[in-house]
Amino acid sequence: MIVTYSRNVFIPLTRNCRNRCKYCGFRRDELDLMSPSDVQKLIRMAKNAKEALFTFGERPEFRKDFLEMLRSYGYSNFIEYVASMNLLAIKNGFLPHTNAGVLSYEELKYLKPFNASMGLMLEQAVELECHSESPGKRPEIRINTIKDAGKLQIPFTTGILVGIGEKKYDREYSLEVIADLYKNYGHIQEVIIQRFLPKKGTEMENFETLSESELVEVVKIARKILPNEVAIQIPPNLVSDLKAYLKAGANDLGGISEITPDFINPEAPWPSINELQKIIGDEFALKERLPIYPRFVKLKWWSEILDGLIELYSDADGYART
Ligand code: SF4
Repeated sequence: MIVTYSRNVFIPLTRNCRNRCKYCGFRRDELDLMSPSDVQKLIRMAKNAKEALFTFGERPEFRKDFLEMLRSYGYSNFIEYVASMNLLAIKNGFLPHTNAGVLSYEELKYLKPFNASMGLMLEQAVELECHSESPGKRPEIRINTIKDAGKLQIPFTTGILVGIGEKKYDREYSLEVIADLYKNYGHIQEVIIQRFLPKKGTEMENFETLSESELVEVVKIARKILPNEVAIQIPPNLVSDLKAYLKAGANDLGGISEITPDFINPEAPWPSINELQKIIGDEFALKERLPIYPRFVKLKWWSEILDGLIELYSDADGYART
């Protein structure tokens, strides 16, 4: 059985965020914005990667000092800056994948040409206490962004964060919502089943996490609910018995970076590709993919700006050329 992964470089453009999720160890109160030269330095170091993963806080321009800094770089709004950093990555030979939080239809449309795929975690399709100070985590707003991405035919990644206070039936409902979105728009390429790991110094540092056996059950349920062509991703740095998840139906390991940490879970380093192949054994074969899945490569769901790179990097089946 094939298990896919992508070689990426993780670019946390900003840790400023309008939300205050009670489990978050990523958000910062002090002003934070990577400059164009910071981005350039990072991507120059990532020689083997093909994906530039832009993940950052949501709507950071609510801060006056953030806007002022943005203006000092010559940009009038953040989405314009994101597109410009996407383009910088493209010029350096990378395929961008942007997770910008909730976006409007117009903002998605603006960023689409510069991205091979985009993403937004649904988290859970129900209101939860951990999101009570996070306006961007209201389920209907996130569902709308995922719908709009579907209308625009953007290859899309979503997922659920598991163990943040939701019930078992909430998880099933959230997966059903994602399955419905896929049935209506056909754009969801993968669903991440992300395990919540408590972070020191956060309100939820002592929150009881889900056991690994419960998490394996979530993967089994996800495999039953989601259509087969939608991959199930398990971040390999957040679990101990990876094979159990693959046997339960997971078939993607997400982005693996050789030079940048998982900024969301910095305490959990990524294993190397060689280590991963040893862990999963002969039963499963690791195969590199691009941030756009083979199915969407074949459907040509990308813009002219990415023509050259996708043709250069993809093989006849739409996987990464090796
Ligand atoms: S939206 Fe993301 S970055 Fe912002 S507080 Fe929540 S988890 Fe942290």
